[in-house]
Amino acid sequence: MAEELNPFKIAQQQLDEAAEVMGLDEQAHAILREPMRTLIVNIPVKMHDGKVKVFQGFRVQYNDARGPTKGGIRFHPKESIDTVKALSAWMTWKVSLANVPFGGSKGGVICDTKSMTPQELEALSRGYIRAIGKYIGPQVDIPAPDVYTTPQIMAWMMDEYSNIVRHNEFGTITGKPLEVWGSEGRNDSTAMGGLFVMREAAKTLGIDLKKAKIAVQGFGNAGMYAYTLSKKLYGSNVVAISDSNGAIYDPNGLDLAKLEKAKKETGSVTGYEGGEKMTNEQLLESDVDILIPAAIENQITGSNADKIKAKLVLELANGPVTPDADKILHERNIFDVPDFLVNSGGVIGSYFEWVQNIGGYYWSAEEVYSKLDKIITKSYTDMMATKKEYNDKGKNITPRTAAYIIAVSRVAAAMKARGWY
Ligand code: GLU
Repeated sequence: MAEELNPFKIAQQQLDEAAEVMGLDEQAHAILREPMRTLIVNIPVKMHDGKVKVFQGFRVQYNDARGPTKGGIRFHPKESIDTVKALSAWMTWKVSLANVPFGGSKGGVICDTKSMTPQELEALSRGYIRAIGKYIGPQVDIPAPDVYTTPQIMAWMMDEYSNIVRHNEFGTITGKPLEVWGSEGRNDSTAMGGLFVMREAAKTLGIDLKKAKIAVQGFGNAGMYAYTLSKKLYGSNVVAISDSNGAIYDPNGLDLAKLEKAKKETGSVTGYEGGEKMTNEQLLESDVDILIPAAIENQITGSNADKIKAKLVLELANGPVTPDADKILHERNIFDVPDFLVNSGGVIGSYFEWVQNIGGYYWSAEEVYSKLDKIITKSYTDMMATKKEYNDKGKNITPRTAAYIIAVSRVAAAMKARGWY
């Protein structure tokens, strides 16, 4: 049978698996299998040639039992409602595992930002906020950046929302530039959080990070900072990195200045001088200790999981490992730490931004990183404790299922306390 690659079906499958192991109440399970609210909007944008083009967008608010929903917005040519639904479910588990007072949501617009002018992008960003404006707000649903959306886009969106409500509402969008009260440390908080998890997982597995060879798939916000911070924080050697055009590999380590030059002059890391060019698939299978998928979903699947050589996989992207691959990696004793823990630094950074916006009192980058470290390290410790607890009961669960059990039981408990079931 062909492997299921619909992200929402995958998200439901992961939940079902955890529900079974933990003995989740049937009614709670039924509520948690579907999003609470799904919005589909069509946004007319006047393009530079004077003609109107209609863009389709989505916002899915999955569950708000523990607080206002929170989640990024993706601008992607292949965006789909099922991807956004899956991502909103994963956000729900992410904020619950981190134990921050939010529910989960996600947004997306089908568009190709690379072929749009800045004016078109601004008009689309503002149009999206007008379309979903009634359903968001600092105590309702708080968007943030994700794939191909930037702090500048967040600033336009915050401005548009502030125009609608006729007062400044900085706390309605996170991931903003510092000039409009973004948070110190939010830019690299996704990667920073992932690297705190890397430090803990390396302790579990006895990996010496100074000697470790790392491959990073993706050179977006998460991947780029994962690369620079691995070197800076632990002196690790990143030997391979990629973008949508392909990968570059050098066993002696990649040089940042040369990578940036390649990106600037050729538009891709594959323009790197020296090293060996390879495909994204080859990067995943390269001979490294740690593999960090930091691009998009469905990268490690039933067809390549048996070829992964890394001992540790850190899912910095959302949904990069399918359930079939999950099983294979687990059987092969490869330690795969799930996305909604590894990349939770992004939303934890957003949580700090929201708290600062609401309180009007701002923190230093050091304060942000040290608070982030505490929260994410606790999530890792909780996950390992749950894994051990089930292991001791004879249930050999994956790190993902352990993390699901914690996240789902917190949301279920909140729903129960509120009388939803
Ligand atoms: N888009 C990021 C994620 O997938 C951040 C979400 C947020 O900051 O709300 O976790």
